[in-house]
Amino acid sequence: MKRRKRINLRESALIILRQRYLLKNDKNEIIETPEELFERVAKAVASAEANFSKDPYICEKYAEKFYEMMANLDFLPNSPTLMNAGCPLGQLSACFVLPIEDSLDSIFETLKYTALIHKSGGGTGFSFSKIRPKGDIVASTQGVASGPLSFIKVFDSATEAIKQGGKRRGANMGILRIDHPDIEEFILAKRNENTLTNFNLSVAITDQFMSALEKKEKFPLINPRNKKVVRYVDPEEIFFLIAESAWETGDPGVIFIDTINKYNPTPHLGEIEATNPCGEQPLLPFESCNLGSINLTNFVKDGKIDWELLKETIHLAVRFLDDVIEINRFPVPQIDKITRLTRKIGLGVMGFADFLIKLNISYSEPSAIEIAKKIMKFINEESIKASYELAKERGNFPAYPGSIWDNPETPFMRNATTTTIAPTGSISLIAGVSSGIEPLFGIYYERKTLENVFIKEFHPLFIEILERENFSENEIESILEEVKEKGILRDMKLPEKIKRLFVTTYEIAPEQHLAIQSAFQKYTHNAVSKTINLPKEATVEDVKNIYLKAYKLGLKGVTVFRYGSKGEQVIYIGGSE
Ligand code: ADP
Repeated sequence: MKRRKRINLRESALIILRQRYLLKNDKNEIIETPEELFERVAKAVASAEANFSKDPYICEKYAEKFYEMMANLDFLPNSPTLMNAGCPLGQLSACFVLPIEDSLDSIFETLKYTALIHKSGGGTGFSFSKIRPKGDIVASTQGVASGPLSFIKVFDSATEAIKQGGKRRGANMGILRIDHPDIEEFILAKRNENTLTNFNLSVAITDQFMSALEKKEKFPLINPRNKKVVRYVDPEEIFFLIAESAWETGDPGVIFIDTINKYNPTPHLGEIEATNPCGEQPLLPFESCNLGSINLTNFVKDGKIDWELLKETIHLAVRFLDDVIEINRFPVPQIDKITRLTRKIGLGVMGFADFLIKLNISYSEPSAIEIAKKIMKFINEESIKASYELAKERGNFPAYPGSIWDNPETPFMRNATTTTIAPTGSISLIAGVSSGIEPLFGIYYERKTLENVFIKEFHPLFIEILERENFSENEIESILEEVKEKGILRDMKLPEKIKRLFVTTYEIAPEQHLAIQSAFQKYTHNAVSKTINLPKEATVEDVKNIYLKAYKLGLKGVTVFRYGSKGEQVIYIGGSE
């Protein structure tokens, strides 16, 4: 490959790359530069091109294109691809869902697979709904069942043990259906601090439950072992309990499992029961998915969107992600099999909040919702076209017959899904932009990394605007001093237009958070990672209303976090994982 010019990375990006992404030798010394990292990834991914073409230069040609796309920070794949492509481990996906049946065999087999996936930097989601409830009979031993929660704790402890050796702490999603007899225990499981710290929990809410809630009818809890009704509950009480727990700790989240299955692209392969750790990727048992995100800020030129460049990047990114499936090495054969049957990929975005600032739009305004729809509609449509074109060359995904794509309008489709909105916790730091579709958290950040390095930064676009607005050097200095103290601009004496652009997450109305999530979901095949942040004064009633609205909007899930509540997130932004 060519001699490379230095990639323009921010200090915080370099710190995180050195800590966890750049290859190290056995003395723990770093042995590659960021340029070499992107070259390693580009070459490894482009090697897949040889599977489909006799052109002897095809791999080189795409390695160059992929390199440029990553080195410009126009697009980055999920962390495991950056960490492991071109390396012996070769596991490149961020998202997995594993099955858990009602037997010790299945539970502990899945525990082993989980360990292998965590070692490679992937995150795992499980539904524990098939496990018989606490106190139920165990015929073979004439004993008493310990219930789903006891096994979630086993997975949590295993994750804790493995994280010592991995590149990042493992992350899990634990799901329980709302009609499981142990549902109350599950809802309360994370109320005590420092329990299940390696898990996000989500209640899988069904349409039947929502209807019982609306009609004020009693709701049956069912033993999954024999499908018998164990008892009836008041849905209002259960709903309150979920909202109250989330209000207090951020957990559990909720997923709307019937909505998810309504959009299951391959219903003939089975039902979806769970998502990956951050909820953006519903998957079938044993299915995995690799994600990648477009850095929206790079597509604004002089306050306008460069649609042509965006289109080119979408097509190249879809090709990249499809190539990743080709070269991916999966930890167990069952995962390999189903992942290659559906070939799901998840192209999404990062830097949405910064993109709005560059377009002179406030995250709080209705026009933010309009632009969210417009941009994601474009990405979704172009990604489908790209997948369609790839299928013409490479063939349809093998599970195409019987899938939702199997109709005369889409005779070709390479991937069962093409779009997902990931949190981009780490890759947005590498790109130096706001994460996923979230608003700004503050205008000044202080973060402590794994190795106790402090990263202190002002939002770069904020400094830019102060300079553009002709503040003197002295004025800028004193403004920054004040921002450092306050973190946000609300109570500062600054022009309204600046305050409005740099609005932060807890200043934004929950309805606006939801509307943005919904705008993206409308044009996303999989799901959307988004937290509905609430001010400290928000009530349990507010949380309930958010759930109701989210369900009515057709969202696949929703997570709330109230400022100052005691929950601890599984995924940390910054190098603190
Ligand atoms: P990144 O920015 O590192 O690519 P994201 O923050 O976008 O990752 O998260 C995407 C998905 O990657 C998560 O939903 C989860 O499946 C997986 N993931 C993220 N962080 C971790 C982690 N620390 N351990 C295991 N899996 C993770």
